[in-house]
Amino acid sequence: MPSAPQRVRVDLHPDALLNDAALRRAAAQAAGLREADVRHVAVAHRSIDARRGRVRVHAELLVYVGKDMPEAPCYLPHVLPNMSEEPAVVIVGAGPAGMFCAWGLARAGVRAVVLERGREVRARRHDLAGLSQRGELDPESNYCFGEGGAGTFSDGKLYTRATKRGPVDLVLRAFAGYGAPPEILVDARPHIGTNRLPRVITAMREHLIGAGVAFRFAARADALVVRDGAAAGVRLRGGEVVPARAVVVAPGHSARDVQAWLRAAGVKLSFKSFALGVRIEHPQALVDRLQYGALAGHPALGAASYRLVEQTGAGAAFSFCMCPGGYIVPAATDPGMQVVNGMSPHSRRGRFANSGLVTEVGPQHLAAVGLSPDDPLAGVEYQARFEADAYRAGGGAFVAPAQRLADLVHGTVSRELPPTSYHRGLQPARLDHLLGPLAPPLQAALQALGARMPGFLGDDAIAVGVESRTSCPVRIDRDGETLESPSTPHLYPCGEGAGFAGGIVSAALDGLRVAVAIARRLGAPHERI
Ligand code: FAD
Repeated sequence: MPSAPQRVRVDLHPDALLNDAALRRAAAQAAGLREADVRHVAVAHRSIDARRGRVRVHAELLVYVGKDMPEAPCYLPHVLPNMSEEPAVVIVGAGPAGMFCAWGLARAGVRAVVLERGREVRARRHDLAGLSQRGELDPESNYCFGEGGAGTFSDGKLYTRATKRGPVDLVLRAFAGYGAPPEILVDARPHIGTNRLPRVITAMREHLIGAGVAFRFAARADALVVRDGAAAGVRLRGGEVVPARAVVVAPGHSARDVQAWLRAAGVKLSFKSFALGVRIEHPQALVDRLQYGALAGHPALGAASYRLVEQTGAGAAFSFCMCPGGYIVPAATDPGMQVVNGMSPHSRRGRFANSGLVTEVGPQHLAAVGLSPDDPLAGVEYQARFEADAYRAGGGAFVAPAQRLADLVHGTVSRELPPTSYHRGLQPARLDHLLGPLAPPLQAALQALGARMPGFLGDDAIAVGVESRTSCPVRIDRDGETLESPSTPHLYPCGEGAGFAGGIVSAALDGLRVAVAIARRLGAPHERI
Protein backbone atom coordinates (compact mmCIF):
# COMPACT_ATOMS: atom_id res chain seq x y z
CA MET A 1 0.00 0.00 0.00
CA PRO A 2 1.52 3.40 -0.92
CA SER A 3 2.35 5.60 2.06
CA ALA A 4 0.79 9.07 2.31
CA PRO A 5 2.93 11.93 0.98
CA GLN A 6 4.53 14.24 3.53
CA ARG A 7 2.83 17.65 3.75
CA VAL A 8 5.11 20.66 4.23
CA ARG A 9 4.58 24.41 4.24
CA VAL A 10 7.07 26.61 2.43
CA ASP A 11 7.54 30.28 1.75
CA LEU A 12 8.82 30.72 -1.82
CA HIS A 13 10.00 33.34 -4.25
CA PRO A 14 7.57 33.24 -7.23
CA ASP A 15 10.40 31.95 -9.47
CA ALA A 16 10.25 28.62 -7.63
CA LEU A 17 6.78 27.93 -9.02
CA LEU A 18 8.25 27.90 -12.51
CA ASN A 19 11.27 25.82 -11.67
CA ASP A 20 10.91 22.13 -10.77
CA ALA A 21 14.41 21.89 -9.34
CA ALA A 22 13.86 24.88 -7.02
CA LEU A 23 10.53 23.47 -5.86
CA ARG A 24 12.09 20.07 -5.18
CA ARG A 25 14.93 21.71 -3.25
CA ALA A 26 12.52 23.70 -1.10
CA ALA A 27 10.36 20.63 -0.51
CA ALA A 28 13.30 18.43 0.45
CA GLN A 29 14.60 21.04 2.86
CA ALA A 30 11.23 21.54 4.53
CA ALA A 31 10.65 17.77 4.78
CA GLY A 32 14.16 17.09 6.12
CA LEU A 33 14.96 14.78 3.18
CA ARG A 34 17.81 14.48 0.74
CA GLU A 35 16.85 16.00 -2.60
CA ALA A 36 17.68 12.73 -4.36
CA ASP A 37 15.06 10.91 -2.24
CA VAL A 38 12.23 13.17 -3.38
CA ARG A 39 10.44 11.51 -6.27
CA HIS A 40 7.71 14.05 -6.92
CA VAL A 41 6.39 17.32 -5.50
CA ALA A 42 2.78 18.51 -5.93
CA VAL A 43 1.36 21.87 -4.87
CA ALA A 44 -1.69 21.25 -2.63
CA HIS A 45 -2.43 24.88 -1.81
CA ARG A 46 -0.92 28.22 -2.72
CA SER A 47 -1.53 31.84 -1.92
CA ILE A 48 0.28 35.01 -2.92
CA ASP A 49 1.28 37.38 -0.14
CA ALA A 50 2.17 40.85 -1.41
CA ARG A 51 2.07 42.62 1.93
CA ARG A 52 4.89 44.71 3.36
CA GLY A 53 6.38 45.42 -0.09
CA ARG A 54 7.66 41.88 -0.53
CA VAL A 55 6.01 39.23 -2.72
CA ARG A 56 6.11 35.65 -1.50
CA VAL A 57 4.16 32.54 -2.35
CA HIS A 58 2.97 30.55 0.66
CA ALA A 59 2.52 26.98 -0.45
CA GLU A 60 1.60 23.65 1.01
CA LEU A 61 3.50 20.92 -0.82
CA LEU A 62 2.95 17.19 -1.01
CA VAL A 63 6.30 15.44 -1.03
CA TYR A 64 6.43 11.93 -2.50
CA VAL A 65 9.36 9.62 -1.84
CA GLY A 66 10.40 6.18 -3.10
CA LYS A 67 7.95 4.63 -5.53
CA ASP A 68 4.94 6.63 -4.37
CA MET A 69 3.29 8.85 -6.95
CA PRO A 70 0.33 11.21 -6.62
CA GLU A 71 -3.13 9.79 -6.97
CA ALA A 72 -5.44 11.26 -9.60
CA PRO A 73 -6.98 14.52 -8.36
CA CYS A 74 -10.02 13.89 -6.24
CA TYR A 75 -12.82 15.44 -8.31
CA LEU A 76 -16.26 14.65 -7.16
CA PRO A 77 -17.57 11.20 -8.10
CA HIS A 78 -20.56 12.11 -10.20
CA VAL A 79 -22.81 9.17 -9.61
CA LEU A 80 -26.43 10.24 -9.47
CA PRO A 81 -29.39 7.88 -9.13
CA ASN A 82 -31.81 7.58 -12.05
CA MET A 83 -35.07 9.33 -11.17
CA SER A 84 -38.30 8.93 -13.09
CA GLU A 85 -41.15 9.69 -10.69
CA GLU A 86 -43.06 13.00 -10.91
CA PRO A 87 -40.82 15.86 -9.69
CA ALA A 88 -41.49 16.52 -6.01
CA VAL A 89 -39.74 19.88 -5.94
CA VAL A 90 -39.96 22.96 -8.13
CA ILE A 91 -36.95 25.27 -8.11
CA VAL A 92 -37.32 28.84 -9.39
CA GLY A 93 -33.96 29.95 -10.80
CA ALA A 94 -31.04 28.13 -12.43
CA GLY A 95 -28.29 30.15 -10.72
CA PRO A 96 -25.73 28.43 -8.50
CA ALA A 97 -28.26 28.20 -5.63
CA GLY A 98 -30.95 26.58 -7.78
CA MET A 99 -28.57 24.28 -9.67
CA PHE A 100 -26.77 23.05 -6.56
CA CYS A 101 -30.12 22.56 -4.84
CA ALA A 102 -31.24 20.35 -7.76
CA TRP A 103 -27.88 18.54 -7.64
CA GLY A 104 -28.09 17.95 -3.88
CA LEU A 105 -31.67 16.70 -4.20
CA ALA A 106 -30.62 14.37 -7.03
CA ARG A 107 -27.89 12.92 -4.80
CA ALA A 108 -30.66 12.11 -2.31
CA GLY A 109 -32.84 10.65 -5.10
CA VAL A 110 -35.37 13.51 -5.07
CA ARG A 111 -36.38 14.70 -8.53
CA ALA A 112 -36.80 18.41 -9.17
CA VAL A 113 -37.91 20.61 -12.01
CA VAL A 114 -35.82 23.76 -12.46
CA LEU A 115 -37.59 26.79 -13.96
CA GLU A 116 -35.44 29.49 -15.51
CA ARG A 117 -36.88 32.70 -16.96
CA GLY A 118 -33.82 33.28 -19.17
CA ARG A 119 -32.36 31.27 -21.96
CA GLU A 120 -29.80 28.51 -21.84
CA VAL A 121 -26.23 29.58 -21.61
CA ARG A 122 -25.32 29.39 -25.31
CA ALA A 123 -28.35 31.41 -26.48
CA ARG A 124 -27.72 33.84 -23.65
CA ARG A 125 -24.40 34.83 -25.23
CA HIS A 126 -26.29 36.30 -28.21
CA ASP A 127 -28.52 38.33 -25.92
CA LEU A 128 -25.45 39.71 -24.16
CA ALA A 129 -23.85 40.61 -27.49
CA GLY A 130 -27.02 42.56 -28.42
CA LEU A 131 -26.77 44.44 -25.14
CA SER A 132 -23.05 45.19 -25.32
CA GLN A 133 -22.94 46.06 -29.01
CA ARG A 134 -26.29 47.75 -29.65
CA GLY A 135 -27.61 48.63 -26.21
CA GLU A 136 -30.62 46.31 -26.66
CA LEU A 137 -31.65 44.79 -23.33
CA ASP A 138 -33.71 41.60 -23.15
CA PRO A 139 -35.34 41.85 -19.70
CA GLU A 140 -35.48 38.02 -19.50
CA SER A 141 -31.97 37.14 -20.70
CA ASN A 142 -29.07 39.34 -19.68
CA TYR A 143 -26.08 39.46 -17.32
CA CYS A 144 -28.30 38.57 -14.33
CA PHE A 145 -30.97 36.33 -15.87
CA GLY A 146 -30.43 33.09 -17.75
CA GLU A 147 -28.91 29.67 -17.22
CA GLY A 148 -26.16 29.67 -14.58
CA GLY A 149 -27.54 32.86 -13.02
CA ALA A 150 -25.78 36.13 -12.40
CA GLY A 151 -22.29 34.70 -12.11
CA THR A 152 -22.15 32.87 -15.47
CA PHE A 153 -20.58 35.77 -17.34
CA SER A 154 -18.35 36.96 -14.55
CA ASP A 155 -14.83 36.54 -13.26
CA GLY A 156 -16.02 33.26 -11.75
CA LYS A 157 -14.25 34.00 -8.49
CA LEU A 158 -14.89 31.14 -6.13
CA TYR A 159 -13.84 32.70 -2.85
CA THR A 160 -16.17 32.63 0.06
CA ARG A 161 -16.04 33.68 3.65
CA ALA A 162 -17.67 30.35 4.55
CA THR A 163 -15.34 28.59 6.94
CA LYS A 164 -16.65 25.05 6.79
CA ARG A 165 -14.06 23.58 4.44
CA GLY A 166 -15.99 20.33 3.83
CA PRO A 167 -18.99 21.81 2.01
CA VAL A 168 -16.79 24.37 0.19
CA ASP A 169 -14.57 21.52 -1.06
CA LEU A 170 -17.66 19.66 -2.20
CA VAL A 171 -18.68 22.63 -4.37
CA LEU A 172 -15.16 23.19 -5.74
CA ARG A 173 -14.71 19.49 -6.54
CA ALA A 174 -18.08 19.49 -8.28
CA PHE A 175 -17.02 22.48 -10.41
CA ALA A 176 -13.71 20.73 -11.21
CA GLY A 177 -15.59 17.55 -12.07
CA TYR A 178 -17.72 19.49 -14.55
CA GLY A 179 -14.64 20.90 -16.26
CA ALA A 180 -13.44 23.91 -14.25
CA PRO A 181 -9.65 24.30 -14.23
CA PRO A 182 -8.13 21.94 -11.62
CA GLU A 183 -6.13 24.84 -10.07
CA ILE A 184 -9.34 25.90 -8.32
CA LEU A 185 -8.62 23.09 -5.84
CA VAL A 186 -5.18 24.54 -5.11
CA ASP A 187 -5.38 28.33 -5.33
CA ALA A 188 -6.30 30.32 -2.24
CA ARG A 189 -8.25 32.67 -4.50
CA PRO A 190 -9.62 30.39 -7.20
CA HIS A 191 -11.43 31.64 -10.29
CA ILE A 192 -12.87 30.03 -13.40
CA GLY A 193 -13.30 32.93 -15.85
CA THR A 194 -16.18 33.94 -18.09
CA ASN A 195 -14.86 32.00 -21.07
CA ARG A 196 -14.89 28.68 -19.16
CA LEU A 197 -17.91 28.99 -16.88
CA PRO A 198 -20.56 28.39 -19.56
CA ARG A 199 -19.06 24.97 -20.41
CA VAL A 200 -19.01 24.00 -16.73
CA ILE A 201 -22.65 24.98 -16.34
CA THR A 202 -23.69 23.14 -19.50
CA ALA A 203 -21.91 19.98 -18.30
CA MET A 204 -23.65 20.18 -14.92
CA ARG A 205 -27.07 20.70 -16.51
CA GLU A 206 -26.59 17.82 -18.97
CA HIS A 207 -25.54 15.51 -16.16
CA LEU A 208 -28.56 16.48 -14.07
CA ILE A 209 -30.90 15.97 -17.03
CA GLY A 210 -29.34 12.53 -17.55
CA ALA A 211 -30.33 11.66 -13.99
CA GLY A 212 -33.90 12.85 -14.53
CA VAL A 213 -33.87 16.48 -13.35
CA ALA A 214 -36.12 18.58 -15.60
CA PHE A 215 -34.94 22.00 -16.85
CA ARG A 216 -37.30 24.47 -18.46
CA PHE A 217 -35.92 27.66 -19.99
CA ALA A 218 -37.88 30.78 -20.89
CA ALA A 219 -40.17 29.58 -18.09
CA ARG A 220 -40.84 32.53 -15.84
CA ALA A 221 -42.64 31.87 -12.57
CA ASP A 222 -45.20 34.62 -12.14
CA ALA A 223 -47.05 33.59 -8.97
CA LEU A 224 -46.89 31.29 -5.99
CA VAL A 225 -49.66 28.70 -5.69
CA VAL A 226 -50.76 28.39 -2.07
CA ARG A 227 -53.07 25.59 -0.93
CA ASP A 228 -54.31 25.25 2.67
CA GLY A 229 -51.85 27.94 3.71
CA ALA A 230 -48.79 26.10 2.30
CA ALA A 231 -46.82 26.52 -0.93
CA ALA A 232 -48.04 23.96 -3.46
CA GLY A 233 -46.41 25.05 -6.71
CA VAL A 234 -45.93 28.03 -9.00
CA ARG A 235 -47.88 29.55 -11.88
CA LEU A 236 -45.88 30.28 -15.01
CA ARG A 237 -46.26 33.22 -17.34
CA GLY A 238 -48.99 31.90 -19.64
CA GLY A 239 -50.95 30.35 -16.79
CA GLU A 240 -49.61 26.81 -16.51
CA VAL A 241 -49.38 25.58 -12.92
CA VAL A 242 -46.37 23.47 -11.89
CA PRO A 243 -47.38 21.60 -8.72
CA ALA A 244 -44.82 20.53 -6.10
CA ARG A 245 -44.46 19.31 -2.52
CA ALA A 246 -41.73 21.88 -1.97
CA VAL A 247 -41.14 25.21 -3.73
CA VAL A 248 -37.58 26.60 -3.75
CA VAL A 249 -37.34 30.27 -4.65
CA ALA A 250 -33.75 31.05 -5.73
CA PRO A 251 -34.30 34.02 -8.04
CA GLY A 252 -31.15 36.09 -7.39
CA HIS A 253 -30.90 39.71 -6.29
CA SER A 254 -32.50 41.25 -9.37
CA ALA A 255 -35.90 39.52 -9.59
CA ARG A 256 -37.99 42.45 -8.42
CA ASP A 257 -41.13 40.85 -9.85
CA VAL A 258 -40.61 37.75 -7.70
CA GLN A 259 -40.31 39.88 -4.58
CA ALA A 260 -43.61 41.54 -5.56
CA TRP A 261 -45.54 38.31 -6.17
CA LEU A 262 -44.22 36.73 -3.01
CA ARG A 263 -45.47 39.73 -1.07
CA ALA A 264 -48.83 39.49 -2.86
CA ALA A 265 -49.06 35.84 -1.73
CA GLY A 266 -48.56 36.89 1.91
CA VAL A 267 -44.98 35.60 2.20
CA LYS A 268 -42.95 37.27 4.95
CA LEU A 269 -40.24 39.55 3.54
CA SER A 270 -38.08 42.19 5.20
CA PHE A 271 -35.79 45.03 4.26
CA LYS A 272 -32.09 44.14 4.36
CA SER A 273 -29.12 46.51 4.31
CA PHE A 274 -27.28 46.38 1.01
CA ALA A 275 -24.40 48.07 -0.80
CA LEU A 276 -24.33 50.70 -3.53
CA GLY A 277 -21.62 52.73 -5.22
CA VAL A 278 -19.57 52.78 -8.41
CA ARG A 279 -17.24 50.51 -10.36
CA ILE A 280 -13.70 51.81 -10.50
CA GLU A 281 -11.26 51.04 -13.28
CA HIS A 282 -7.47 51.33 -13.61
CA PRO A 283 -4.90 50.08 -16.08
CA GLN A 284 -4.01 46.55 -14.95
CA ALA A 285 -0.32 47.47 -15.24
CA LEU A 286 -0.78 50.07 -12.49
CA VAL A 287 -2.42 47.56 -10.14
CA ASP A 288 0.37 45.06 -10.88
CA ARG A 289 2.98 47.69 -10.03
CA LEU A 290 1.21 48.75 -6.86
CA GLN A 291 0.86 45.16 -5.65
CA TYR A 292 3.97 43.44 -6.94
CA GLY A 293 6.50 46.27 -7.38
CA ALA A 294 9.52 45.02 -9.32
CA LEU A 295 7.86 41.61 -9.77
CA ALA A 296 4.92 43.11 -11.72
CA GLY A 297 4.22 40.95 -14.76
CA HIS A 298 5.96 37.89 -13.28
CA PRO A 299 4.47 34.86 -15.08
CA ALA A 300 3.92 32.92 -11.86
CA LEU A 301 1.87 35.74 -10.33
CA GLY A 302 -0.56 36.67 -13.11
CA ALA A 303 -2.69 39.80 -12.94
CA ALA A 304 -2.72 41.36 -9.48
CA SER A 305 -5.94 41.91 -7.57
CA TYR A 306 -6.76 43.94 -4.49
CA ARG A 307 -9.28 44.01 -1.70
CA LEU A 308 -9.83 47.37 -0.03
CA VAL A 309 -11.71 48.32 3.11
CA GLU A 310 -11.60 51.94 4.28
CA GLN A 311 -13.20 53.13 7.47
CA THR A 312 -13.34 56.93 7.32
CA GLY A 313 -14.98 59.70 9.31
CA ALA A 314 -17.61 59.88 6.55
CA GLY A 315 -18.41 56.15 6.78
CA ALA A 316 -17.03 52.88 5.47
CA ALA A 317 -16.38 51.91 1.87
CA PHE A 318 -15.15 48.62 0.51
CA SER A 319 -14.15 47.07 -2.78
CA PHE A 320 -16.30 44.31 -4.18
CA CYS A 321 -15.92 41.67 -6.90
CA MET A 322 -12.57 42.85 -8.22
CA CYS A 323 -11.93 41.67 -11.79
CA PRO A 324 -8.23 41.70 -12.77
CA GLY A 325 -7.65 41.94 -16.51
CA GLY A 326 -11.41 42.24 -16.93
CA TYR A 327 -14.26 44.23 -18.44
CA ILE A 328 -16.98 46.40 -17.02
CA VAL A 329 -20.34 45.09 -18.23
CA PRO A 330 -23.91 46.45 -18.33
CA ALA A 331 -25.75 44.37 -15.71
CA ALA A 332 -29.21 45.96 -15.79
CA THR A 333 -32.34 43.82 -15.96
CA ASP A 334 -34.85 46.60 -16.63
CA PRO A 335 -35.07 49.13 -19.45
CA GLY A 336 -34.19 52.65 -18.36
CA MET A 337 -31.97 51.49 -15.47
CA GLN A 338 -28.17 51.71 -15.51
CA VAL A 339 -26.22 49.05 -13.56
CA VAL A 340 -22.60 47.98 -13.96
CA ASN A 341 -20.65 44.95 -12.81
CA GLY A 342 -17.45 43.19 -13.93
CA MET A 343 -16.18 40.01 -15.56
CA SER A 344 -12.85 38.57 -16.71
CA PRO A 345 -11.65 35.70 -18.85
CA HIS A 346 -9.70 32.91 -17.17
CA SER A 347 -6.34 34.31 -18.35
CA ARG A 348 -7.13 37.76 -16.90
CA ARG A 349 -4.95 39.25 -19.61
CA GLY A 350 -7.10 42.30 -20.39
CA ARG A 351 -5.64 45.83 -20.17
CA PHE A 352 -7.87 46.98 -17.34
CA ALA A 353 -8.62 46.10 -13.73
CA ASN A 354 -12.06 46.91 -12.34
CA SER A 355 -13.78 46.57 -9.02
CA GLY A 356 -16.91 47.70 -7.25
CA LEU A 357 -16.35 50.41 -4.64
CA VAL A 358 -19.45 50.55 -2.50
CA THR A 359 -20.86 51.66 0.80
CA GLU A 360 -23.62 50.18 2.90
CA VAL A 361 -27.18 51.46 2.61
CA GLY A 362 -29.08 51.09 5.88
CA PRO A 363 -32.51 52.03 7.24
CA GLN A 364 -31.31 55.61 7.95
CA HIS A 365 -30.70 56.23 4.23
CA LEU A 366 -34.22 55.13 3.39
CA ALA A 367 -35.77 57.22 6.13
CA ALA A 368 -33.87 60.31 4.89
CA VAL A 369 -35.75 60.18 1.57
CA GLY A 370 -39.12 59.35 3.10
CA LEU A 371 -39.04 55.58 2.54
CA SER A 372 -39.92 53.32 5.45
CA PRO A 373 -37.58 50.44 6.30
CA ASP A 374 -40.71 48.69 7.57
CA ASP A 375 -41.73 48.35 3.96
CA PRO A 376 -39.81 45.25 2.81
CA LEU A 377 -39.50 46.57 -0.74
CA ALA A 378 -38.36 50.09 0.19
CA GLY A 379 -34.71 49.18 -0.45
CA VAL A 380 -35.61 48.12 -3.99
CA GLU A 381 -37.26 51.48 -4.55
CA TYR A 382 -34.17 53.27 -3.19
CA GLN A 383 -31.85 51.20 -5.41
CA ALA A 384 -34.02 51.76 -8.50
CA ARG A 385 -33.95 55.57 -8.08
CA PHE A 386 -30.13 55.59 -8.40
CA GLU A 387 -30.27 53.28 -11.40
CA ALA A 388 -32.84 55.45 -13.21
CA ASP A 389 -30.82 58.62 -12.45
CA ALA A 390 -27.65 56.95 -13.73
CA TYR A 391 -29.39 55.86 -16.94
CA ARG A 392 -30.52 59.43 -17.59
CA ALA A 393 -27.06 60.79 -16.76
CA GLY A 394 -25.52 58.41 -19.32
CA GLY A 395 -27.90 59.66 -21.99
CA GLY A 396 -29.51 56.27 -22.74
CA ALA A 397 -28.68 52.99 -24.50
CA PHE A 398 -26.66 51.90 -21.44
CA VAL A 399 -23.92 54.45 -22.01
CA ALA A 400 -22.56 54.83 -18.48
CA PRO A 401 -22.08 58.04 -16.51
CA ALA A 402 -18.44 58.29 -15.47
CA GLN A 403 -15.95 60.56 -13.75
CA ARG A 404 -12.22 60.42 -13.20
CA LEU A 405 -11.54 59.28 -9.64
CA ALA A 406 -9.69 62.51 -8.86
CA ASP A 407 -12.69 64.53 -10.10
CA LEU A 408 -15.05 62.38 -8.04
CA VAL A 409 -12.98 63.16 -4.95
CA HIS A 410 -12.87 66.90 -5.69
CA GLY A 411 -16.43 67.21 -7.00
CA THR A 412 -15.63 68.44 -10.50
CA VAL A 413 -16.82 67.23 -13.89
CA SER A 414 -14.28 65.36 -16.04
CA ARG A 415 -13.70 67.23 -19.28
CA GLU A 416 -12.61 64.05 -20.99
CA LEU A 417 -12.34 60.42 -20.00
CA PRO A 418 -9.54 57.90 -20.63
CA PRO A 419 -10.02 54.61 -22.54
CA THR A 420 -12.19 52.02 -20.81
CA SER A 421 -13.15 48.35 -21.10
CA TYR A 422 -16.86 49.29 -21.02
CA HIS A 423 -18.16 48.63 -24.55
CA ARG A 424 -21.25 50.83 -24.37
CA GLY A 425 -19.09 53.91 -23.81
CA LEU A 426 -18.95 56.59 -21.14
CA GLN A 427 -20.54 59.98 -20.64
CA PRO A 428 -18.83 62.49 -18.29
CA ALA A 429 -21.18 63.09 -15.33
CA ARG A 430 -21.12 64.30 -11.74
CA LEU A 431 -21.26 60.93 -9.98
CA ASP A 432 -20.66 62.79 -6.72
CA HIS A 433 -24.04 64.51 -7.27
CA LEU A 434 -25.74 61.39 -8.48
CA LEU A 435 -24.66 59.41 -5.42
CA GLY A 436 -25.89 62.11 -3.05
CA PRO A 437 -25.54 60.90 0.57
CA LEU A 438 -23.51 57.86 -0.53
CA ALA A 439 -20.76 59.99 -2.12
CA PRO A 440 -18.89 61.18 1.03
CA PRO A 441 -17.75 57.73 2.25
CA LEU A 442 -16.58 56.83 -1.26
CA GLN A 443 -14.78 60.18 -1.69
CA ALA A 444 -13.07 59.89 1.70
CA ALA A 445 -12.01 56.30 0.98
CA LEU A 446 -10.62 57.24 -2.43
CA GLN A 447 -8.69 60.14 -0.94
CA ALA A 448 -7.12 57.82 1.64
CA LEU A 449 -6.30 55.20 -1.00
CA GLY A 450 -4.81 57.86 -3.28
CA ALA A 451 -2.54 59.02 -0.46
CA ARG A 452 -1.33 55.47 0.18
CA MET A 453 -1.05 54.23 -3.40
CA PRO A 454 0.72 56.49 -5.90
CA GLY A 455 -1.24 56.60 -9.16
CA PHE A 456 -4.51 55.31 -7.68
CA LEU A 457 -6.15 58.64 -8.43
CA GLY A 458 -4.16 59.17 -11.63
CA ASP A 459 -5.59 60.49 -14.91
CA ASP A 460 -6.45 57.04 -16.21
CA ALA A 461 -8.42 56.00 -13.10
CA ILE A 462 -12.21 56.29 -13.45
CA ALA A 463 -15.46 55.61 -11.65
CA VAL A 464 -18.42 54.26 -13.65
CA GLY A 465 -22.00 54.31 -12.42
CA VAL A 466 -23.73 52.64 -10.76
CA GLU A 467 -22.75 49.49 -8.91
CA SER A 468 -26.08 48.75 -7.31
CA ARG A 469 -26.60 44.97 -7.51
CA THR A 470 -23.82 43.74 -5.28
CA SER A 471 -26.32 42.45 -2.76
CA CYS A 472 -30.05 42.06 -2.36
CA PRO A 473 -32.08 44.73 -0.52
CA VAL A 474 -34.73 42.18 0.49
CA ARG A 475 -34.71 39.14 2.73
CA ILE A 476 -37.25 36.39 2.18
CA ASP A 477 -37.48 35.23 5.77
CA ARG A 478 -36.98 31.60 6.67
CA ASP A 479 -36.90 29.43 9.76
CA GLY A 480 -33.36 28.67 10.97
CA GLU A 481 -34.11 24.95 11.40
CA THR A 482 -36.53 23.89 8.67
CA LEU A 483 -35.40 26.62 6.21
CA GLU A 484 -39.08 27.12 5.31
CA SER A 485 -40.77 30.49 5.15
CA PRO A 486 -42.33 31.20 8.57
CA SER A 487 -45.46 32.54 6.86
CA THR A 488 -45.74 29.86 4.19
CA PRO A 489 -44.74 26.24 4.93
CA HIS A 490 -43.15 24.22 2.10
CA LEU A 491 -41.70 27.42 0.60
CA TYR A 492 -37.88 27.45 0.76
CA PRO A 493 -36.20 30.86 0.18
CA CYS A 494 -32.70 30.20 -1.16
CA GLY A 495 -29.52 31.91 -2.31
CA GLU A 496 -28.64 35.55 -2.82
CA GLY A 497 -32.13 36.73 -3.75
CA ALA A 498 -33.45 35.45 -0.46
CA GLY A 499 -30.65 37.21 1.44
CA PHE A 500 -28.76 34.07 2.44
CA ALA A 501 -25.75 34.23 0.12
CA GLY A 502 -23.45 36.64 -1.65
CA GLY A 503 -21.37 35.09 -4.39
CA ILE A 504 -21.24 31.92 -6.45
CA VAL A 505 -19.91 29.53 -3.82
CA SER A 506 -22.03 30.79 -0.96
CA ALA A 507 -25.14 30.56 -3.19
CA ALA A 508 -24.20 26.99 -4.14
CA LEU A 509 -23.71 26.14 -0.45
CA ASP A 510 -27.11 27.58 0.37
CA GLY A 511 -28.64 25.48 -2.42
CA LEU A 512 -27.14 22.38 -0.81
CA ARG A 513 -28.38 23.43 2.62
CA VAL A 514 -31.93 23.78 1.29
CA ALA A 515 -31.64 20.42 -0.51
CA VAL A 516 -30.76 18.76 2.81
CA ALA A 517 -33.73 20.40 4.55
CA ILE A 518 -36.17 19.30 1.83
CA ALA A 519 -34.79 15.76 1.58
CA ARG A 520 -35.11 15.44 5.36
CA ARG A 521 -38.72 16.62 5.29
CA LEU A 522 -39.58 14.25 2.44
CA GLY A 523 -37.92 11.31 4.21
CA ALA A 524 -35.20 10.95 1.53
CA PRO A 525 -31.60 10.00 2.45
CA HIS A 526 -30.32 13.55 3.07
CA GLU A 527 -27.01 12.26 4.42
CA ARG A 528 -26.02 11.38 0.82
CA ILE A 529 -25.86 15.09 0.00
P1 FAD B 1 -28.58 34.08 -9.40
O1 FAD B 1 -27.26 33.62 -9.85
O2 FAD B 1 -28.91 35.49 -9.58
O3 FAD B 1 -29.64 33.17 -10.15
C1 FAD B 1 -31.01 33.39 -10.08
C2 FAD B 1 -31.67 32.84 -11.32
O4 FAD B 1 -33.09 32.90 -11.14
C3 FAD B 1 -31.37 33.67 -12.57
O5 FAD B 1 -30.83 32.84 -13.55
C4 FAD B 1 -32.72 34.25 -12.97
O6 FAD B 1 -32.89 34.34 -14.35
C5 FAD B 1 -33.69 33.24 -12.37
N1 FAD B 1 -35.02 33.81 -12.11
C6 FAD B 1 -35.30 34.99 -11.50
N2 FAD B 1 -36.64 35.17 -11.44
C7 FAD B 1 -37.20 34.08 -12.00
C8 FAD B 1 -38.56 33.71 -12.25
N3 FAD B 1 -39.58 34.48 -11.90
N4 FAD B 1 -38.80 32.53 -12.88
C9 FAD B 1 -37.75 31.72 -13.28
N5 FAD B 1 -36.45 32.06 -13.08
C10 FAD B 1 -36.19 33.21 -12.44
N6 FAD B 1 -19.94 36.15 -7.53
C11 FAD B 1 -18.80 35.48 -7.27
O7 FAD B 1 -18.73 34.73 -6.28
N7 FAD B 1 -17.70 35.63 -8.07
C12 FAD B 1 -17.70 36.43 -9.17
O8 FAD B 1 -16.70 36.53 -9.88
C13 FAD B 1 -18.90 37.14 -9.48
N8 FAD B 1 -18.97 37.96 -10.54
C14 FAD B 1 -20.17 38.51 -10.90
C15 FAD B 1 -20.25 39.21 -12.10
C16 FAD B 1 -21.48 39.71 -12.54
C17 FAD B 1 -21.54 40.42 -13.88
C18 FAD B 1 -22.64 39.54 -11.73
C19 FAD B 1 -23.97 40.09 -12.17
C20 FAD B 1 -22.55 38.86 -10.52
C21 FAD B 1 -21.32 38.32 -10.10
N9 FAD B 1 -21.19 37.59 -8.91
C22 FAD B 1 -20.02 36.95 -8.62
C23 FAD B 1 -22.32 37.41 -7.99
C24 FAD B 1 -22.92 36.02 -8.22
O9 FAD B 1 -23.22 35.87 -9.56
C25 FAD B 1 -24.17 35.82 -7.38
O10 FAD B 1 -23.84 36.04 -6.02
C26 FAD B 1 -24.71 34.40 -7.53
O11 FAD B 1 -24.91 34.08 -8.87
C27 FAD B 1 -26.03 34.26 -6.75
O12 FAD B 1 -26.55 33.00 -7.01
P2 FAD B 1 -28.12 32.70 -6.92
O13 FAD B 1 -28.29 31.33 -7.48
O14 FAD B 1 -28.59 32.98 -5.56
O15 FAD B 1 -28.82 33.76 -7.87
